[in-house]
Amino acid sequence: MIEDKNQQRTPLSGFGEFGLIDHLTKNFKINQSSTIKGIGDDAAVLNFENKKIVITTDLLVEGVHFDLSYMPLKHLGYKAVVVNLSDVYAMNAKATQITVSIAVSNRFPVEALEDIYAGIETAAKIYDIDVIGGDTTSSTTGLLISITAIGEVEDEVYRNGAKPKDLLVVTGDLGAAFMGLQVLEREKEVYKVNPNSQPDLEPYTYIIERQLKPEARKDIIKLLKDLDVKPTSMIDISDGLSSEIIHLCKQSNVGCDLYEDKIPLDPQVISTCEEFNIDSTTVALNGGEDYELLFTISQSDFPKIQANPNFSVIGYMKEANEGMHLVTRADSKIPIKAQGWKNFND
Ligand SMILES: [Mg+2]
Repeated sequence: MIEDKNQQRTPLSGFGEFGLIDHLTKNFKINQSSTIKGIGDDAAVLNFENKKIVITTDLLVEGVHFDLSYMPLKHLGYKAVVVNLSDVYAMNAKATQITVSIAVSNRFPVEALEDIYAGIETAAKIYDIDVIGGDTTSSTTGLLISITAIGEVEDEVYRNGAKPKDLLVVTGDLGAAFMGLQVLEREKEVYKVNPNSQPDLEPYTYIIERQLKPEARKDIIKLLKDLDVKPTSMIDISDGLSSEIIHLCKQSNVGCDLYEDKIPLDPQVISTCEEFNIDSTTVALNGGEDYELLFTISQSDFPKIQANPNFSVIGYMKEANEGMHLVTRADSKIPIKAQGWKNFND
């Protein structure tokens, strides 16, 4: 349903591996002072002086993590970078470099790889990171992208530092990426039946963008520093609010009360949930792919974040033996369980 306007199809076999990487990365620039040598030798060389380093890696698999029938390749490249950077920011770190490895089958022409790399280049520019290496190889099972992100950190924040009475805070709003996916899946089914249908996606622009082109919260790391707030624990929301809360609670050995009426939802999420007859709280709890940051702060830091529209205080931590609960609008308490993305439709 998203038309391929790029009609040129140069076979991958036209390039040797090194010629292809040179071709795909020829516009990439090095901006980080910690990058001594990027692409072009057997390995990259980095110098972080005395700083601590964080490293994280992610593998995205066609048919599991993305569907090319509605995911434009440029967006896929962008998103693959963003989901990795989100993990770097969740450590309270500054992202500095990435490596990119891609496996493709022969059904992809060179132009498809150019589109993926164009998305990677855009993300690298926006998030100010260097692409310092990678690999391309052939695949018999579709498209795979693996990205490793590197960052530097002064004051890292782990998942295990939350204390009873700490406030639970989330950035942005939740559930939009999941509802965007529901709309795209629906339109895909419509398109299968009638390829000439022109979907009106106008009412869903925000939620579709959150699915196809998410952003990582680099801005929040700077904002927390400016506000002089160091979270006691932090995680990014890739799998859904409930499973991330469970990670923080288990690793910190605390319990939690989460207030349903405090969970931030965009109006488009609420209206689309009504249209699909899905409970918006369930979507926020289990939808995933929001790439917002979830963290805890000590109560003494509350005045520093109180008036800031980027933050919602959604609950507070308790003793571990008090358990993890959702306090509903009707004031009843439901245990928080991890359902996550994959089991959501069961
Ligand atoms: Mg994460």
